[in-house]
Amino acid sequence: MQGVSAQERETPAAERREALKEVYARTQACVRCDELAATRKTVVFGAGNADAELMFVGEAPGASEDEQGVPFVGRAGKLLETLLGEIGIARSEVFICNVLKCRPPGNRDPQPIEIEHCHEYLLRQVELIQPTVICSLGNFSTKLLRDDPTGITRLHGQPQVLTLGRRAVRLYPIFHPAAALYTPRMLETLREDFTRLPELLAQGAPEQPDLSEPPEVDPRDLADARADIESVDRAATSPPEPAEADQLGLF
Ligand code: URA
Repeated sequence: MQGVSAQERETPAAERREALKEVYARTQACVRCDELAATRKTVVFGAGNADAELMFVGEAPGASEDEQGVPFVGRAGKLLETLLGEIGIARSEVFICNVLKCRPPGNRDPQPIEIEHCHEYLLRQVELIQPTVICSLGNFSTKLLRDDPTGITRLHGQPQVLTLGRRAVRLYPIFHPAAALYTPRMLETLREDFTRLPELLAQGAPEQPDLSEPPEVDPRDLADARADIESVDRAATSPPEPAEADQLGLF
């Protein structure tokens, strides 16, 4: 995992967005997971405001997301938008992404190795977007971000301050909207948890970690980063080129 320098923390939103576009390009060329790279139609990086205060992290793209290259475009996405609307927030104000950027075939569960491969991209998204609050949607993202197996039923609606990568955020686990679509009681709980979001956002960003220490670099991350740079270089010389985030209006 590459760290955020003190300079990056002060970096204006426009520059962080440019850096995010580089991460976007790396994900478009990513072949860390053989099966996902072979079966996906698109890499679903995430979409929304690249300088969002509020970020949502779901599980993985489904069939519609894989087709369109945009997260949460199906019924669960519509519900998410409705719940946001009820608290006066537009979808365009937030950033939405997933633990996995590629659709697992047949919508099977993400595998631990796939989650591990994709983790660095998610951490860079957090470091560059610098959200105040991250809502983890359901079990997969909650367990990953908390690095703990406690399930969403016990944790939903309970904010906690957490350092992800080199960014401290308020993590707010809530039920996954796809689960709430079919369970009215879960939908009520999700709606109730949503009503506490404005208050949580109003608390502002938690105190940030001291970044004067050089980041610890895991040699495996360096090897991954080198492999990614090579695959981006290859992609740049062989069509089709990855679509620019701008062209898709993703962020
Ligand atoms: N469910 C998810 O977790 N993510 C999506 O993008 C769509 C549905």
